Amino acid sequence: MNSRRDFLQQVSLGLGTAAFTSFPALANQLAKGANQDKKLRVAIMGLGGYANIVARGMQECKLATITGVISGTPSKIETWKQKYNIPDKNTYNYETVGQIKNNPDIDLVYVITPNSLHHKHVLQIAAAGKHVICEKPIADNAKQAREMIAACEKAGVKFYIGYRLHFEPHTRELIRMREAGAFGKVMHVNNYAGFKIGDPTQWRLKKSLAGGGALMDVGVYSLNGARYCTGEEPIWVTAQESKTDPVKFKEVDETVTFQLGFPSGIIANCGCTYGFNNVEGLKLMGDKGWAQLNPAFGYGPIRGNTHLGPINAADVNHQANQMDGIADCILNNKPDPNVSGHEGLKDMIVLDAVYESLRKNGAKIMISR
Ligand code: NDP
Repeated sequence: MNSRRDFLQQVSLGLGTAAFTSFPALANQLAKGANQDKKLRVAIMGLGGYANIVARGMQECKLATITGVISGTPSKIETWKQKYNIPDKNTYNYETVGQIKNNPDIDLVYVITPNSLHHKHVLQIAAAGKHVICEKPIADNAKQAREMIAACEKAGVKFYIGYRLHFEPHTRELIRMREAGAFGKVMHVNNYAGFKIGDPTQWRLKKSLAGGGALMDVGVYSLNGARYCTGEEPIWVTAQESKTDPVKFKEVDETVTFQLGFPSGIIANCGCTYGFNNVEGLKLMGDKGWAQLNPAFGYGPIRGNTHLGPINAADVNHQANQMDGIADCILNNKPDPNVSGHEGLKDMIVLDAVYESLRKNGAKIMISR
């Protein structure tokens, strides 16, 4: 796979202001070559809250369309069949999903189930010979993520992670500016993501289904953002947890701060929470300038500012943009902007180290890869 820089350079070629162009518009132009009429046919696995947002967004897609569903809830299958014109023969439950192998109407399965089921579900889809997108966090730990990557490689299917921000125009412009040297040498990064979680009975608060708490769910945004703000991989971490509600957060972390040390000497300060609202943001400080995204990680609109002025990028539907972006990679054999399973694994390696630091009372953990 080419680097993110190669991807962005490729995107910029012939478009001039491509960094300020929405991905569907770009995909439209690119799609006018090969595979003009072909669409990626997608089955959604797990018809919950986020699956509904993805499906709504996909109504704007030019290169991807929903052709199937996998669900444990028959009434949801009925609703989706009507809503998205899905034929009976393209519907499955978690027991019959292996039969998807024989269905020529489905190219890819998008796994949008609780975190701790991602490993099992991605292995099932790989065994059925279909491409797969898995929601974040990729798995419970790096060992599982490596197994998922190996299974997809063995099956010869493509494996992506649902990192929608890697297709988001403000985020891409920040990365482009950083790579072009607009901020000089990156000196510090400060990211925070979180929200006040509601219903105390939900799976996000159960370790067996969530793998962890705020860190797994939204800490991954702070971490991934620190990696795209620096273009480096962390070599050490330290971490601290605060818990204000030990009953609600009996099984999982509530609020975590963590520091990432990078090879160039940069330290990123990151945080995440399930305890309070209005906390998201990303800030990059360089020796020649700065950039800030706020909001940085939600569904948009993302807002960006730099020492040179605002980032005037397009506001897009994140889910449509991501699905057209991934479809364009698959249909037209293009490099992806760092959304392969390997990108998910890189974050999981660091999250493993953050949890190890928490278990060891904030000890500095050197990261081995
Ligand atoms: P929901 O609880 O709303 O939906 C999860 C769905 O998974 C359920 O509706 C159910 O669908 C299915 N499921 C299968 N087994 C179980 C089980 N044992 N317990 C509960 N549900 C089960 O969760 P979300 O949609 O909010 O999150 C799903 C995934 O998407 C998570 O990994 C999350 O991190 C990710 N996500 C990503 C976002 C992003 O911006 N990229 C935003 C929000 C979530 P069915 O009844 O059809 O079987």
